[in-house]
This record gives sequence, C-alpha cells and structure tokens, in this order.
Amino acid sequence: MTDLSDPATFRVELRKWLDDNDLTPTDDHSLAAHLAQFFRVQRALYDAGWGRYGWPEAAGGLGGPALLRAIVGEEVVGRRLAEPGPYSMLEVLAPTMIDYATPELAAEMLPKLLSGEEQWCQGFSEPGSGSDLASLSTRAVPRGDQWIVNGQKVWTSFAQFSKRCILLARTGDANTPAHQAITAFFVDVDTLGITVRPLHTMHGVDEFCEVYFDDVAIDGSRLLGAPGDGWKLAMDLLPYERSTCFWQRIAYLYSRFDALIDDVKGVGQAADADMGAAYLALHTLRCRSRDTQLRLAEGQKLGPDTSIDKVLLADAEQRLYDTVRDLLPGTIELDDTAWRTEYLYSRAATIYGGTAEVQRNIIARRLLDLGKE
Ligand SMILES: Cc1cc2nc3c(=O)[nH]c(=O)nc-3n(C[C@H](O)[C@H](O)[C@H](O)COP(=O)(O)OP(=O)(O)OC[C@H]3O[C@@H](n4cnc5c(N)ncnc54)[C@H](O)[C@@H]3O)c2cc1C
Repeated sequence: MTDLSDPATFRVELRKWLDDNDLTPTDDHSLAAHLAQFFRVQRALYDAGWGRYGWPEAAGGLGGPALLRAIVGEEVVGRRLAEPGPYSMLEVLAPTMIDYATPELAAEMLPKLLSGEEQWCQGFSEPGSGSDLASLSTRAVPRGDQWIVNGQKVWTSFAQFSKRCILLARTGDANTPAHQAITAFFVDVDTLGITVRPLHTMHGVDEFCEVYFDDVAIDGSRLLGAPGDGWKLAMDLLPYERSTCFWQRIAYLYSRFDALIDDVKGVGQAADADMGAAYLALHTLRCRSRDTQLRLAEGQKLGPDTSIDKVLLADAEQRLYDTVRDLLPGTIELDDTAWRTEYLYSRAATIYGGTAEVQRNIIARRLLDLGKE
C-alpha cells in the first residue's frame, strides 16, 4: 500500500497521475479562460483525491499536512496547467472559513471552493482604507435576524467570477473600541443590492473590482465568528495572504526563470551576474516558504513572521522581471508579449496583501522590537 502521507511518495504518485491525465489548457489567455481552466483542474484533482490532501476532513479534505497541498500547487502550476492567481483566494479564504465559520457552514461551503465549483473573493479594502484597514467604513446594522450592509469595497480580486465574499463591515456604536467594531460576514455575491464593477488595470487583465453594497440583507447565520470578531479574523487571515498564498506563485516564477534562460540564450546575451541575482532571490524565497510550510506542519500558528515571506516574494518577483527588462532590451517596452503583462503585474507585488512599507513596519516593530514606525 502506498504511503501518501510521505511527501516524497506523494509527489511521485501525483506526478504519475498528472502524466496519465491530460489537463492541458487551451490557447485562450483571457482571465475568464484562466479561471475556467483553474476550475477544471481543481475539479479533476478533487475527484481524484489529490485536491483534498492537506485540508482537514471537516472541510471536505482528506487530512495530512498543508505541505501536501503545497506539492499539488507546485506540480500543477510548475507544469503550467493552471495560473497561480486564482489559488490565492483558496489559500487565503479556506483556512479562515475553517477557523471562523460554524461547522455546518464550513462543511456545506468549503467543498464547493476546494472542488472548483465556486470562486470566492475577499472584501476588505475600501477606497479610503487599505493599509489602515481598521478605518473601514462599510457599515452593517442588525435588523431582526439579519444584518443590513451599506458601503463600498475596492480591489476585490475575482469578484466578477465569485459566488461568495468574505466581507468586513463596521458594527457597534461610537463607544465600541475601534478593533472590536468590525464584524466579518460570508455573503452570497448574487444577493440583492450588491453591484460588482470590474476595474481596468494597467497590465490589461481586469482581475479586481469595485463592489457596492446597497441595503444588502445578510442572514445572522452568515456571521464569521461573533459580532466584533472581524479584526481578529483579519489578523488571522493576513498571514496566509503573506505566505501560503504564494506557494503556487513561486513555482510559476521558477518556470518563468527557466523561460528567461531560453530567451536570453536566444539573443546571445551574457548575463551571468543578473541571472544569478534573480535566481538567488527566488531560491531565498523558496527556502523561506519551505520553512513556513514546515512550521505549519508542526502545528504552529502563522503570524507577523510571514511579513518576511511577503517581502521576499515581492523582491524576487520584481527582480526577476527587472532582469527581463534589462537583459531583453525593448521586450517590456515595445513587444506585446507575456513578459510585458507580467512585468506590469509584478509591480503590484509590493502593494497587495499589505504594502512593502507596511511589511517592513511589522518586521521592525513586531519582530525586531525597534519601536514605533
Ligand atoms: C493586485 C491587487 C489585488 C488586490 N486584491 C484585494 C482583494 O482581493 N481584497 C482586498 O480587500 N484588497 C485587495 N487589494 C488591496 C490591497 O490590500 C491594498 O491595495 C493595500 O493594502 C494598500 O492599500 P491602499 O491601496 O489603500 O494604499 P494606501 O494604504 O493608501 O497606501 C499608499 C502608500 O502609503 C504607504 N503607507 C501607508 N501607510 C503607511 C505606514 N503606516 N507607514 C509607511 N508607509 C505607509 C503605502 O506603503 C503606500 O505606498 C489588492 C491590491 C492589489 C494591488
């Protein structure tokens, strides 16, 4: 009997399965096609069991350390069967649902996310509240068994493809301490009063949206945690957004590094030092990420230490695409290739999940005890 709890065996068996099951994507590179392909891959992996390892049984998983699902993501994205972007919501929102939803809600909803039946989104940021998330002003007021929500979110990734949203809203009154005045909800995006408007991005892939809430009624059973637990939920969620959420992305960046080697050879460019620096940044990131995976496997709780993962990710990603810009002159500026789209998107790495400045503040204050920013 094959022991799939052993990561090395798991990888070998998964590779065999991926060799035998053709999940090659189409040539359509639109965002909608990438999402459809992601759902297709997730469905196949879930049905075959691979997509359920590393998730608890209560969530529709088959258990085992999170390392197993990191291996799945690495193999799938490393083979370019799916793009890394949609994985981020899965890795960020599923652990939050496991920790904060009622067991009934988690058992009903999580298999839909894991199996690619549904996409979900994260409604935290607002036009005036990004880094200073605690200042958010979307408001929820209780009415009978329901809560009525009014306000606006922005930068909500994949909202136009999402069935559900984990939403933060202000609750309580003027006397409620700031960090106890936020409550989290699990909202159906097709609820009356929700309007989703995709935003146009500079890299041409319109992945995030404005989301408006006009007298949106949410049932009390859709609270995540208790009223006032929203800030705690956000603090527990953000470490995932700064670490585990990048496991697939790292595999993708390695595949792009390999592609760059080929392209650089093609133009006969001598580039050892630049390529070495880009590789070193990638390798440092992967080592750090592996350490995070192992800490998770030991049952440790992720916290401010994941700001290090986030800083390393942003540095490695931007360094890789800066190297493309420097070694393939004109490619970013003049050619309509994937390199340009990816270069432009890499600029977002120092913004999403908390900006580079905010990560460095966290590292300085909470890890190095260097005092206030
Ligand atoms: C591609 C992408 C996807 C995203 N997806 C989502 C999503 O799905 N859901 C969601 O809720 N949000 C999402 N976001 C939003 C993201 O979380 C915010 O953009 C981020 O937190 C920064 O907030 P802001 O844009 O309001 O910038 P601001 O907070 O206004 O910051 C502006 C500048 O001021 C600096 N700054 C702010 N405060 C400090 C400080 N204390 N010390 C030093 N410098 C400071 C920042 O570093 C930055 O350079 C996404 C963003 C991007 C780019």
